[in-house]
Amino acid sequence: MRYSYATHLECSVGHDRYDIRKLQGLSAAGKPLLAGYDLEALRREVRREEIARRPPNLWRWHELLPLEDPAWIVSLGEVETPLIALSHSPRPAGFRPPMVKDESRLPTGSFKARGLAVAVSMAKARGARRLAIPTNGNAGAAMAAYAARAGLEAFCFCPDDTPEINLSEIALQGAAVWRVNGLINDCARLVESGKAKFGWFDLSTLKEPYRIEGKKTMGLELAAQTDWQLPDVVFYPTGGGTGLIGMWKAWAELTALGWISPPLPRLVAVQATGCAPIVRAFDSGASAATAWENAHTIAAGIRVPAALGDFLILAALRESGGFALAVSDSAIEAARQQVGLRDGLLLSPEGAATYAAYLEAAAGGRLRASDRVVLFNCASGLKYPMPAVTARMDVRAPFAAGISLPSPGS
Ligand SMILES: *Cc1c(COP(=O)(O)O)cnc(C)c1O
Repeated sequence: MRYSYATHLECSVGHDRYDIRKLQGLSAAGKPLLAGYDLEALRREVRREEIARRPPNLWRWHELLPLEDPAWIVSLGEVETPLIALSHSPRPAGFRPPMVKDESRLPTGSFKARGLAVAVSMAKARGARRLAIPTNGNAGAAMAAYAARAGLEAFCFCPDDTPEINLSEIALQGAAVWRVNGLINDCARLVESGKAKFGWFDLSTLKEPYRIEGKKTMGLELAAQTDWQLPDVVFYPTGGGTGLIGMWKAWAELTALGWISPPLPRLVAVQATGCAPIVRAFDSGASAATAWENAHTIAAGIRVPAALGDFLILAALRESGGFALAVSDSAIEAARQQVGLRDGLLLSPEGAATYAAYLEAAAGGRLRASDRVVLFNCASGLKYPMPAVTARMDVRAPFAAGISLPSPGS
């Protein structure tokens, strides 16, 4: 039995192969590389029950991860995240409560930890010393944390409207960080142009093969957590799409292993109306997206005007029988408030977007009442601006203005 069953890297378009023992970025065609595994051997040698017996963390999936040796692991405690039913938040009559997979419990408070734990571990093992990333915040925070832990240098480039907390947490975790007067794609160009000069290894979304392997564990975990009976529909807040592509890859691998069987969940890509390139491409039947002009939304994690993996996202949506949906910032804010007030769960705006999209999809007849639905909350709500509290009380004249609870509204 091997620790990892990874065998090769393969271009996601041309399927030409690359040496998995070397530090790799994109394929020769400039497309993402994906890791391949010896699933036949794994199927013979490991039972799914064995994995279920291990401690519940990301590394229990090591056969389906690229690390050859447990000594390569750079860890901050990557726990299995819980599924929490939204029992009290509004839903259409007769529908089952949707479940939230609450990724905010991970190190650095977002699911970016999954991808960066694996990618930083691999980058270090393959000889990288200086890591650079364009980031809307959470990816940079996770890269900074794991780089510090690994003893590597980290350089982060953030659009200047990145949430303040993200900038501060990146700086406190030992990385160099800049506010850039542009969008995420401008930051990506900066990393590109500094690579050769400063010796950076580029950890941009899908520009190296292992963040997606880390994100894949969301799909693996969901399978084990649901007793290998995956939900019917999964709503995913989609920026670069690593998680969505990663889950689809995970389920293909689990299917090949015979550990799950079809039907697989329908995937729903959720975006904001102020930045919805995938929704536009999906609805027009295109196989790739065009860049979104003047992208804006409070949901910083999904403010990605152009995604390198757009064709992989669109293929996964179509193969799964899913769809793509954009929701407005006001719907996101209302959703965040509803779930906080009624269910006591403080979602990130991106997570709230999935609940808003769920309501819209249900109202539009795109879901069945019996569907088991999972929504992804990808980051801690504590990282984002929250409404100011203005109520004051005078100890010398208490209760003068009366006492009331916040209204949950409709
Ligand atoms: C990065 C991020 C996303 C988008 O994830 P992708 O897998 O890159 O599409 C969504 N929400 C939050 C909070 C994020 O940080």
